[in-house]
Amino acid sequence: MSETIFSKIIRHELPADVVYEDNEIMAFRDINPQAPVHVLVVPKVEIETVNDIKPEQAELIGKLVLTAQKIAADEGIAEDGYRLVFNCNRHGCQEVFHLHLHLIGGRQLRGISAA
Ligand code: AMP
Repeated sequence: MSETIFSKIIRHELPADVVYEDNEIMAFRDINPQAPVHVLVVPKVEIETVNDIKPEQAELIGKLVLTAQKIAADEGIAEDGYRLVFNCNRHGCQEVFHLHLHLIGGRQLRGISAA
């Protein structure tokens, strides 16, 4: 796969509003937020789309969800609730081809049927 802007953010070559980082995962605020809280939880390893996740990466994907859970708590939106979304390819409106989990919340969201 060709490198995306997220690889440069992960290498700290481009600025981002980072809210969490460990050796496997980085989470930073979306540059075009769709809600008061909009964070992208990103594996450091380059995985292009959900279609490219390998079975041996299941633990990493679980860690993405648990990281989003922690950030939601840190942001104070856990109790009210939030949405976690992976967009995949054209019909999913994926724009950046480096896997990322959207954490969206901080306001009442519309039903998924309106997405
Ligand atoms: P997706 O449509 O799922 O691929 O979402 C890509 C997201 O990345 C969009 O919500 C963009 O606003 C966001 N984005 C693109 N470039 C940056 C950036 N440099 N820093 C933070 N978020 C970005």
